[in-house]
Amino acid sequence: MIIGILKEPAGENRVAMLPEQLVLLVKQGIEVMVEKDAGANAFANNELYVTAGATVTNRNTVLSSASILLSYWSIPDDELAKTQKGVILIGVFQPLFNFQLMKAWASNGFTVFSLDMIPRTTRAQSMDVLSSQANIAGYKAVLKAANLLPRYFPMFMTAAGSIPPAKLMVLGAGVAGLQAVATAKRLGAVVEVSDTRPAVKEEVMSLGAKFIEVDGAADASAAGGYAVEQTEEFKQKQKERLALSVAKSDVIIATAQLQGKPAPLLIDENMLKTMKPGAVVVDLAASTGGNVFGVQNNATIQLHGVTLVGNSQLASDMPADASKVYGKNMFNFLQLILTKEGAIHLNFEDDIVKGCCMAHGGAVVNDRIQSLLAS
Ligand code: NAD
Repeated sequence: MIIGILKEPAGENRVAMLPEQLVLLVKQGIEVMVEKDAGANAFANNELYVTAGATVTNRNTVLSSASILLSYWSIPDDELAKTQKGVILIGVFQPLFNFQLMKAWASNGFTVFSLDMIPRTTRAQSMDVLSSQANIAGYKAVLKAANLLPRYFPMFMTAAGSIPPAKLMVLGAGVAGLQAVATAKRLGAVVEVSDTRPAVKEEVMSLGAKFIEVDGAADASAAGGYAVEQTEEFKQKQKERLALSVAKSDVIIATAQLQGKPAPLLIDENMLKTMKPGAVVVDLAASTGGNVFGVQNNATIQLHGVTLVGNSQLASDMPADASKVYGKNMFNFLQLILTKEGAIHLNFEDDIVKGCCMAHGGAVVNDRIQSLLAS
């Protein structure tokens, strides 16, 4: 059985597995083929892969030889036509947005595991790619903001006068948001946080930040830890409260998301206009519309005197560690679908295997994707 690792598309620096995890698959008796230069942008050269026991070869050979293909992003259709019958694809395919692609892949007979659909349970934590990548994105977002801000983050008392600490607001206290809080606190900023899930208040406070209280959020207890759509009344109350903090903020790190839906717009144009000249917004929700008015995905622009950074893939800017943790998530997941001897064994009784399987046996097998296709 051969596992193949492909080079990611242009602009993506991560690789699906580094040599340090790959060596463990080789020890399991698995043959691993890696496309030439797949790890180059993540500082893992071809020699390191060969030393780990992989065969480094051209893309077409990997595509046509592998029974399992590992990637981050999806592989183009014309290339998938070169794969073996019933190939297993594992990556981050965003099926709640790409449900038509899942249907097409199912009808081509591929078995598809999308790791972004892994249930957010304790047992699944070691395979949770959303967490491992969001953690990096939250950290990088703050560093990027610090770089762009024309002011200090920490407070300074100097002979030339005193500098007040930067005021930073975080929208959304999920994995990325909490890492942003921790990073900003380490740099000396004063941090405020807004989230619709009251459960995060304690975590925010334990990191030394202030939680912005807004009563009346919709109950999200049945949403598997994710946030849910809010009522218009709540949205208005939240907006009024956020407006007070926006006007005082030097930096906003926006991370608020609704799974499989457009991101909530939390800062409108009038609110943006009240920000200090030179303020910085880094919006990690940019790919689903952003939390802040005017943000453009994959672009840094100036609007009303504010620098707006729209980037939902900041983990790709730290490719060595992002690939390290992604590859570890991948390795841990592979252990659920392989025997100790390295043979494929798909156990759909396992809630993690079932939860992230989108297509198998010629059909779409995930309930949510089925209902999106039916609607
Ligand atoms: P996410 O990226 O889906 O969303 C980021 C944050 O935005 C969330 O905290 C959400 O409540 C918040 N948000 C949404 N709408 C908002 C609004 N209108 N205003 C303000 N904030 C808003 O979050 P995530 O990091 O993927 O985490 C989602 C859930 O999964 C959390 O409950 C987290 O604790 C849980 N989780 C569990 C595991 C695990 O057990 N394996 C791992 C990671 C995360």
